[in-house]
Amino acid sequence: MSGSRLSLLLIAIALGGCAGGAAPVAVPESPPSAVETSYEILWVRDSAEYEAALVQTYRLAAARVEQTARELEPGTWVVVMDADETVLSNLDYSVERAAVGGRWTAETWREWVSRKQAPPIPGAIDFIETVYRLGGRVAIVTNRSEELCPATRDNLEAVGVPFDHLRCKREGEDRKESRWQEVRSGDGTDLGPLEIVMWIGDNIRDFPDLDQSVREAGTSAYDEFGVRYFVLPNPLYGSWEED
Ligand SMILES: [Mg+2]
Repeated sequence: MSGSRLSLLLIAIALGGCAGGAAPVAVPESPPSAVETSYEILWVRDSAEYEAALVQTYRLAAARVEQTARELEPGTWVVVMDADETVLSNLDYSVERAAVGGRWTAETWREWVSRKQAPPIPGAIDFIETVYRLGGRVAIVTNRSEELCPATRDNLEAVGVPFDHLRCKREGEDRKESRWQEVRSGDGTDLGPLEIVMWIGDNIRDFPDLDQSVREAGTSAYDEFGVRYFVLPNPLYGSWEED
């Protein structure tokens, strides 16, 4: 025990003695909130490691895209990015839900998105500015529904996330492959045909043909990560909960 803690203990005993020997009365503590017991929320909210991992991933992606762009004509290529927990942070939504003991619901999610207050993920804007400087385009392909697309667009613009194309999820579009194909072909965008040179996301399904079963294939299945695929940490939710 340190000297200061020992001193405090002795003072506490002395004060207890002054109270006429009455047993100390336990002051009931309020139970910790669901936020304070949610380690995934605490890690995202409070840890420097989370922010460092985001910035680190985006810096490595920027260095890689800089190499790639040397062999490409400006205006011919694009980086595909996810939205939630990739360029926009929904931590505040998770905190709000946990505070009332709730989980994700369509209604509360719609209300959160309509507020247009999701801040940018650290590192994302710098990365996009690098892509632009090198002559690339940025397409954000998200599983937010079509109905939520206008508010998502407003949110991105309000917090200064630049992008050329935003594609939300229509009924039945469980995976993103068909939407990436639209980005490649230029059908449904006003960008013309583009080569996708990089994918960035927080969910294994943000990468072509991958899902949680990749874990069974061994580490060679991750060969594209750090090359054309860059994954950001998200302990709050993901397809790992379902697959
Ligand atoms: Mg996401």
